Amino acid sequence: MPTADAPGPRLIDGKAAAARITDEVARRAARLPVRPGLAVVIVGEDPASVVYVRMKSATAEALGFHSVQHTLPAETTQAELVALVAALNADPAVHGILVQLPLPAHLDPPATIAAIDPDKDVDGLTVANAGRLAVGDPRAIVPCTPLGCLALIEAERGADLSGLDAVVVGRSRLVGLPMALLLAKANATVTIAHSRTADVAALARRADILVAAAGRPRVIDGAAIKPGATVIDVGTNRVADASRASGSRLVGDVAFEEATAASAITPVPGGVGPMTIAMLMRNTLEAAERSVQPASTAS
Ligand code: NAP
Repeated sequence: MPTADAPGPRLIDGKAAAARITDEVARRAARLPVRPGLAVVIVGEDPASVVYVRMKSATAEALGFHSVQHTLPAETTQAELVALVAALNADPAVHGILVQLPLPAHLDPPATIAAIDPDKDVDGLTVANAGRLAVGDPRAIVPCTPLGCLALIEAERGADLSGLDAVVVGRSRLVGLPMALLLAKANATVTIAHSRTADVAALARRADILVAAAGRPRVIDGAAIKPGATVIDVGTNRVADASRASGSRLVGDVAFEEATAASAITPVPGGVGPMTIAMLMRNTLEAAERSVQPASTAS
C-alpha cells in the first residue's frame, strides 16, 4: 500500500523531483564563469556516513562540480579538523563545505561548525545562517533537508500556504526547526511537536501538512493523519526484517501502510532523501553564484 492498482495516497516521487532540481542546477552552473566547488569532510568510518558522503561527492562530480572529499582518520584532533576547515574557507575553488555528522565522540561538533565560513556553510548549520533564516535575510543558506521538504510541499499545495495548518514533529537544528520557519514564511500556521509534547497524535490530526522528523518508527500512525493531508516523512530508521538478505530495512516515522487517509505521502526510501542531496547541490551552486555576484544584505 499504496500501489498502482490499489487506492490510497499518491506517492510523492522524491527521485523525480530531485532530478528536476539537479537538471536546473546543471543549467545554471553552465552559465557561471566559475566551476562550483564542494568539499566534503568525513572523520572516521561510520558506515551510514560513508554512504551519504559517497552519494554527495558522486552527485557533485556528475554535475561537473569541483568535488573534493577529505577522509580523515578517526583519531584526527579538533585542531587538525579546524585547520582543514580554515584551509577550505581560504580556498577560492571551494564554494561549499560540508562536515559530515556525527563526528567521533572526542571531537566538538559546535566548534567545528562554527569554524566554517557562513557563506560556504552549504548545510546551513552555522549560527549565522540559522539567524539569517530566522530574520528572513536573503543570504541565509538553509539546511538541505527542510529545503527539499518545502519544495515537495510547494509542488503539492502551492507556494502560498495561507490558511493551512502545518505540524512539524521534531525541533532539531538540522530539520525540525528550520522546517517550521520555512513553513511559517510560506504563511502556514505552524505547530512544532517534540519528545515532551503531551499528545503528538492529537496535534498531527489537525495538520493539512504533516512533516515527521522524529527519527522514531511509527511515531505517526494512521489515526494521527487528517483526511487529505500532505505527509512528508523525513525519518530514516533501520528496523529488523528477517525477510531481507541484510536482515533489516529502512522505514520512516510514519506507519506507511496505515496512512490511507493522506492525499499524498513521501515513501522511505525515495522521498525526502534524494531531495536532500539535490538541495545540497543547489546550495553549493548558489554559494558559487554569490561568490561571483554577492547577494544584497536587505532583510
Ligand atoms: P534529532 O536531532 O534526533 O531530532 C529528533 C527530534 O524529534 C527532536 O526534536 C526530538 O524531540 C523529536 N522526537 C523524538 N522522539 C519523539 C517522539 N516520540 N515524539 C515526538 N517527537 C520526538 O534528529 P534529526 O537530525 O532532526 O533527524 C530526524 C530524522 O530524520 C532521523 O530519522 C534522521 O535520520 C532523518 N533525516 C533524514 C534525512 C534525509 O535526507 N532523508 C536528513 C536528515 C535527517 P526533543 O527535541 O524533545 O529531543
